[in-house]
Formats: sequence, C-alpha cells, structure tokens
Amino acid sequence: MQGVDRNNNVERERKQTGRRALLTAAGLIAAGGVPAAISALGGKPSGGSRKRAWWVKAVDRPTLGQKTGQFKRFSGDNIFVIYRQLKAQRDGAGSFEAEQAAKTKRLAGWMRDRKPGFRLPDHQLSEGAWTLMKSTEPGAGLLSWTRIAVNTPAELGVGRHTAPPEEMAKTVKAAARLYGAGLVGIAPMNEGYVNLRQEKKDIVFEDAEVPAVTDKKFVIPRTMKWVVSIAIPMDLDLLSRAPTSLGDAATGLGYSHSAFTVASLAEFIRGLGYQAIPSVNDTALSVPFAVEAGIGELSRLNKLVTPEFGPAVRLCKVFTDLPMAYDKPVDFGLVEFCRKCKKCAESCPSGALSFDDEPSFKTRGPWNNPGHKAWFEDSYLCFQHWQQVDNGCGICLASCPYTKAAQAWIHDVVKATASVAPAADGLFRIMDNALGYGRQHDPEQWWTRDPPSGARG
Ligand code: SF4
Ligand code: SF4
Repeated sequence: MQGVDRNNNVERERKQTGRRALLTAAGLIAAGGVPAAISALGGKPSGGSRKRAWWVKAVDRPTLGQKTGQFKRFSGDNIFVIYRQLKAQRDGAGSFEAEQAAKTKRLAGWMRDRKPGFRLPDHQLSEGAWTLMKSTEPGAGLLSWTRIAVNTPAELGVGRHTAPPEEMAKTVKAAARLYGAGLVGIAPMNEGYVNLRQEKKDIVFEDAEVPAVTDKKFVIPRTMKWVVSIAIPMDLDLLSRAPTSLGDAATGLGYSHSAFTVASLAEFIRGLGYQAIPSVNDTALSVPFAVEAGIGELSRLNKLVTPEFGPAVRLCKVFTDLPMAYDKPVDFGLVEFCRKCKKCAESCPSGALSFDDEPSFKTRGPWNNPGHKAWFEDSYLCFQHWQQVDNGCGICLASCPYTKAAQAWIHDVVKATASVAPAADGLFRIMDNALGYGRQHDPEQWWTRDPPSGARG
C-alpha cells in the first residue's frame, strides 16, 4: 500500500542519513547559525502568539507568482470537471463512470474487511466532518451573497460603523479570528482572480450597490475593493494519517470550518452596515489573494505555504466594500527553501509535483492558469490517485517540513534560521526526515488518543 511504501522510503532515508545529519546539525549549531536565531527569538516560543515571528518579513511584491500580459480570468471549471472530461478523452466514453463504480465497490470491501483507516467509523468520521461544506452552494444558504439574519444598523436605530482603515482592519481581523481564522489578512480586490463562471452563470462586475445572484449571473459590485483572506488550520493529527478516510476528515473539517467562518464574518460585516460576499473555493482563486494579503508564500506545491502552519490550511475569503488598510505580501525564505527541499515532490505517490529546480511559466494542463510563474503540478495525476485511495490524498501537505504544530518552539528556530541562512536549507530538509517527520501515523491509534485530536495550532 501507498502509505507503507511511503514509510519504507522515509525509514530507509532516515537510517542512512539520521546520524550524519544530526552530527552535521550539531556542527551548524556550534558554528553559531541556530544560536543567532534562538537569540533573536529571545529563547522563547513565538508560534503560539497572534503576533507574527520576526523572520516573516513584509515585502512590496510576492516572492513567486509573477504575472505576464497573458494572465487573465480563469474559466472556473474545477479539477473534478476537467478530470472527468480528460478521462473520457483519454480512456473512452464511460471510463469515468466505470472508475467511480470500481471505487465505490473497493471502498465497501475495505469497510467490510475493517481495513485500518477505511473502516465504517473512519469513513463516517470524514462524512460528518464534511457536513457543513457539503450543505453549501455559491450564493445560497451559508454562502448567501445577501444577509441571512443579522439586523442592519438602520434596523437597530444607529448609523453604520465608521473608523479609520487601520482600526477597521483590526476589528474585522479580530472577528475573523473569533470565528475560526488561524491567519487573516486584507488584500485589494483583483478582478483577474475572479472566475468567469460558476453554476453555469457568468460572474460579472457592475456598478451595483449590492451583490446579487440572478437566474443568469452573479453580480459583484465594483465598490467591493477589499478581500479578507483567511487560512483555517487543518487538524494535524488527522492529516498525519493521510491518505485514509481519517486524512480526508481533516480536509472536510477544514472546509466546513471555512464555510462557518466566512458566513459568520459576512454577517458581522453586514451588521456594521456594509456589503459582504463569503467564498470558500467558489467564485475566485483563493491562493493569489492569500499571497497578496501576506498569509504565506506560493510554494513548490503550487499552493500556499504559511510560516505558522505550512500548507496544512484551507483558504477562504470575504469580499467587501468596508474600507480597511491593506496588508503586504510576506517573505520568510520559502521559495529559496523549496528550490532545494523537494520533499513534497518525492513524497507524492502519483508524480504530480514538479522536481524542477526553478519555477517557470510552463503550465501542465487546463487546470493551470497561464501567465504566471510557478512550480506547476499535474492535477490529472493527482486526482487519478485520489480515485485509487478513495479519498482526497494530502500526503504532500503532511510531508512539508513547514507543517508542524505551532507550539513547538524548536520548529520556529529552524524556520527562522531557514529564512536568514539559505545555506542551511538542504540540511534542515534532511533533518526533517531524520527526525521522522512526514511519516504516516497509525490510523487505528487516532481513536484511542486521550484527549482526541482537535489541536488547531
Ligand atoms: S494530494 Fe496529489 S499532489 Fe499531493 S501527494 Fe497526493 S497525489 Fe501527490
Ligand atoms: S515540502 Fe519542501 S519543497 Fe515542498 S512545499 Fe514544503 S518546503 Fe517547499
């Protein structure tokens, strides 16, 4: 099985390199690299703090994702739709449906055989975690583009809330954190990141006063110039059991928390007297907004990696006309680290991730948006693997050296050193394996944990 192969590979590398790597690390520490970082951290943990670590630096432009004139609004078709079409083209009509039927049969067999990580309780844990997300649709229910239940200021007999942009940003960020955001930042609206279509309707920008969803289109008012970008931390205990139903529960929970968080924040903003559109994966690309809001950097995964939670986050956002101070992109040395690391690409069982030393403008399929620089992935291979393991995979998220519990101060020291001493990047990558990170944890053991997981950074 894939998880066993993955553990064997990691175990082999661990035995070969562990002792040498740790001795070398000791040499580096003795040479002063890490002590400098410890000293700068004040010798104290910083990850549990709301305040960002010193080594996360604000910059004027994102470190990766540079655009050319070719960049334009994306179709909005997601990988599920694209995979189905490509599968039919490559393997013939009905091939997708046959694959689905085989998958359902295989999963039932695994449940009957009580295969660890795929037993009935494992599967239903995942189903329960997805509940809120699966009950949403763009522009309706929790993701309504107009108010659900909150009273307007006029109904309460007061005027709309006003404050300087910096104070407004603080107020909105505080509310977002209360509702579940692990990280939150403000980016300017960029029409280029908004999908062309969804639910068979156009998404258009108009000189309207309020957002609207009609029979023919989704209307975003041009006054919506602010995007509250949010990262929801995933449950690392569950994610470390990927690719199983337990790993998929981490994904489902992240999405359901996202839906709750953006719905609550949109109501809060409407209650202050402004317009708000909550969005999870729908309506627009989440990653470029998150990069511009300073939530993290674009990585070799072609996904966001955050300094605090690595790539183990789900992204969501709220568009609004509430004026707030914008945040800046950040640089914590990730792109340089990714050049040498490649651990996600090595861990990926489908070969979907790039091994190229340098990012480029060369896309790998219709799922990639042309006209920006990145390490592009083969989403067809990735999704094909999902079909084989019956759930979303997530191995790459779990394997990234930045995916660590935020409370562990030693990880902050390593991340801090990586941000200022790129020469140590390769070593930290080896140490990560040597210390056993990225190995799949025993699925059965999750159920007997005391207390059960739920640590969200
Ligand atoms: S989720 Fe996709 S890209 Fe990531 S490890 Fe699994 S197959 Fe590879
Ligand atoms: S595993 Fe390594 S190469 Fe991949 S995203 Fe994380 S730091 Fe970058």
